[in-house]
Amino acid sequence: MNAEVVVAGGGPVGLMTAALLNAAGVSVLVLEKLDRPTTQSRATTLHPRSLEVFSALPGLAERLIELGRPVSGTHFAVLPDLLDLTGLDTRYPFTLLVPQVRTERLLAEHLATSGVVVLRGTEVTGLEQDAEGVRVLAGGQVHHGRYLVGADGAHSAVRKLAGIEFPGREPTMCGFLADVELAEAPPRTHQWRHDTGWLSAVRLTDGVHRLFGAEPGDTGLSPEQVRERQAEPLTEGELRAVLRRVVGTDFGLRAVHWTSRANDSTRHAATFRSGRVLLAGDAAHVHLPAGGQGLNVGLQDATNLAWKLAAELRGWAPEGLLDSYDAERRPIAEKLAANTLAQSALMTTFTPAGGALRDLVSGLIADGTLTSELAGWISGIAVRYPAPPGAHPLVGARWPEAIGLPVDRMTKVDFTPDHRLGWRPARPWQGLAAAVIRPDGHVAQAWDSAEDALSQLGNLAGTG
Ligand SMILES: Cc1cc2nc3c(=O)[nH]c(=O)nc-3n(C[C@H](O)[C@H](O)[C@H](O)COP(=O)(O)OP(=O)(O)OC[C@H]3O[C@@H](n4cnc5c(N)ncnc54)[C@H](O)[C@@H]3O)c2cc1C
Repeated sequence: MNAEVVVAGGGPVGLMTAALLNAAGVSVLVLEKLDRPTTQSRATTLHPRSLEVFSALPGLAERLIELGRPVSGTHFAVLPDLLDLTGLDTRYPFTLLVPQVRTERLLAEHLATSGVVVLRGTEVTGLEQDAEGVRVLAGGQVHHGRYLVGADGAHSAVRKLAGIEFPGREPTMCGFLADVELAEAPPRTHQWRHDTGWLSAVRLTDGVHRLFGAEPGDTGLSPEQVRERQAEPLTEGELRAVLRRVVGTDFGLRAVHWTSRANDSTRHAATFRSGRVLLAGDAAHVHLPAGGQGLNVGLQDATNLAWKLAAELRGWAPEGLLDSYDAERRPIAEKLAANTLAQSALMTTFTPAGGALRDLVSGLIADGTLTSELAGWISGIAVRYPAPPGAHPLVGARWPEAIGLPVDRMTKVDFTPDHRLGWRPARPWQGLAAAVIRPDGHVAQAWDSAEDALSQLGNLAGTG
């Protein structure tokens, strides 16, 4: 089949990329290896910025909120003091507990009603590109596109076929994961002891608890030991025994829905773009699933990338726009790696000194010292792209009211008290008179005076 953009991978990031491209009027084809959707929810949380990303698709953020359970705080490194999100400047100042399968189903239904084809049972196995486009071999057929987005997960075939390196750190630990039904609710969500391990027990929407933890014996491992441990199935019997060792009780474990193991392998792609091939989501970065970040950062990749591809295809992209995807998002992947490694150190330094460090950091969260930095990062709200030299300092900042912006063009916003510019009126923000906002909600241009805005806007490409 032919499409302007071929997306490899029908996970949440591939589906979101496809939905945003479709909303921008770009023809898109999704190729997904699995015959039918997975029933396993790896991610359970959506953070505020992700809900803002969903708001670009009419009604979807609200639908998701109905499908999930909002909670006001989120954890860092399973520390007992939570990051309070209620003060964040966003329409969605909470974390939404929602199983990944529901998020994926909502996106898949949206694509189906929008007429976007998702070819299931279609594994990408080959790739060629030239100045005109890409040829993607999948399911015994060749599909043609102008661009290919590799959103095909941690073991991305697209990444390998494009010859993109995936450097990083080998895993050193292996944690246990399980979705279970418990007779007794755990008294605390997060428990950590330097001599027995940690357990995090989050109640999901349907009363099921997501357990995540590790024992001291499963840390400080060689990569080979991690691989061996990961390959061992986690049986119900072992899970019961682990819970008793870590917290002294199995909470009346009465049903096990799913078990898995997770490690702290931390890598990101050496480049997010190779010619006409772009990487997003787990294909571009992997890390310990700590603080519910992988899916959320992947959705931010999608919103950064989709409008840039649309602008290229519609001919209004300024020189270098598509390269800015790598320039803006790879530093985020580096920060994601640093953040999750720091959490890993706090979670798995099973010594009295590790415990003291946890108490110290938790105290800094409790007294607010670290809250704005960490909550801003985990929620995605504080993500800010660097302003080019000479640009207004707010260029690259996220505009908090960028809800439901058009995906296919820039939006001119008027902050003057009497809205005399006649652009989209908005409440005062940061002392600005006017700004041009990108489809992903970040500032493209900003002015302190209305006169400067009118004289300098000129024919800025992509403004509607
Ligand atoms: C235990 C666990 C808990 C987690 N909890 C959270 C959380 O709470 N919050 C959070 O934000 N993140 C969490 N994550 C991370 C999150 O699940 C991932 O970051 C997210 O799934 C990434 O989405 P994706 O679309 O990039 O990749 P994936 O979800 O891996 O989707 C990739 C898709 O590509 C398909 N595919 C693979 N190869 C090919 C091919 N060759 N051709 C075609 N299709 C292909 C796959 O079948 C799959 O459907 C967790 C991860 C784990 C392991």
